[in-house]
Amino acid sequence: MTSDPQSYSEADWKKVLSSEQYDVLRGCGTEPPFQNAYWNCKEEGTYLCAGCGTALFSSEDKFDSGTGWPSYTKPAADNAIAASDDDSLAMRRTEARCKNCGGHLGHIFSDGPGPTGERYCINSAALKLKKKA
Ligand SMILES: [Zn+2]
Repeated sequence: MTSDPQSYSEADWKKVLSSEQYDVLRGCGTEPPFQNAYWNCKEEGTYLCAGCGTALFSSEDKFDSGTGWPSYTKPAADNAIAASDDDSLAMRRTEARCKNCGGHLGHIFSDGPGPTGERYCINSAALKLKKKA
């Protein structure tokens, strides 16, 4: 098995991820709202990709969207997230993936607060919080 997440096979991912993480990151699943690790988390730090460790979001951009999932107004870096059209569920949404490993994170909506007007609605299972030291 290679140590580079970009060339992991699906079998490799099954080995390194929990079943919850695998379902979200590789299976594009959605975890239940209000029953996930970070929806109400107010710790300061950086949210890393649970698949490959890339910094995806900062706690500074996290806000309470009332949806029950961790929500952010913008990614930690412009090139951290890959957005693409998702027409599943018979509605057009923008899917957010980790640009480095391709893992599914959640969706981006255009009803967010602040200057960006964007709401990154992300599954906790796709994230790992690195607390501020
Ligand atoms: Zn990743």
